[in-house]
Amino acid sequence: MPNWKDDVEIVVDEGKISVPYSWTVGSTLSRFYCELRDNGKIWGNRCPSCGKVFVPPKIKCIDCYEDLHDWVMLPGTGTVETYTVVRYQEPVLHPRKAPFVYGVIKMDGADTGLVHFIGGVDPEEVKVGMRVEAVIEGEREGNILDIKHFRPIK
Ligand SMILES: [Zn+2]
Repeated sequence: MPNWKDDVEIVVDEGKISVPYSWTVGSTLSRFYCELRDNGKIWGNRCPSCGKVFVPPKIKCIDCYEDLHDWVMLPGTGTVETYTVVRYQEPVLHPRKAPFVYGVIKMDGADTGLVHFIGGVDPEEVKVGMRVEAVIEGEREGNILDIKHFRPIK
């Protein structure tokens, strides 16, 4: 029996799809997002055992496995630990138009890095160690994009 694949060149067409979805972020991140949306404040939480402060907050300490109930309001400032400049457009995955900068910001008062945009600066001028501050959106929806980006402190 002949195989149809023997008579044709196999062509592969690659594509991408956007799949809308929703899920609950749980009680800890819900509180984090509600404080961000309602008050424009960034909160972390502290481990009662080792004292490490997490932002975004976690349910349990990743080192001690203690429940984290001690909330800490952060000042919204921090330091760029690392970054990358995104130079291509990816309409499905990127919420911003390229070029833009993703950075890991170690916020003052926290022990963990927060991944977010670095803006208000030419991408070529971003540096590790740069001091930055959060720019909070005026119209907020209760998600991480309520922080517009982190910009250099002048
Ligand atoms: Zn701990």
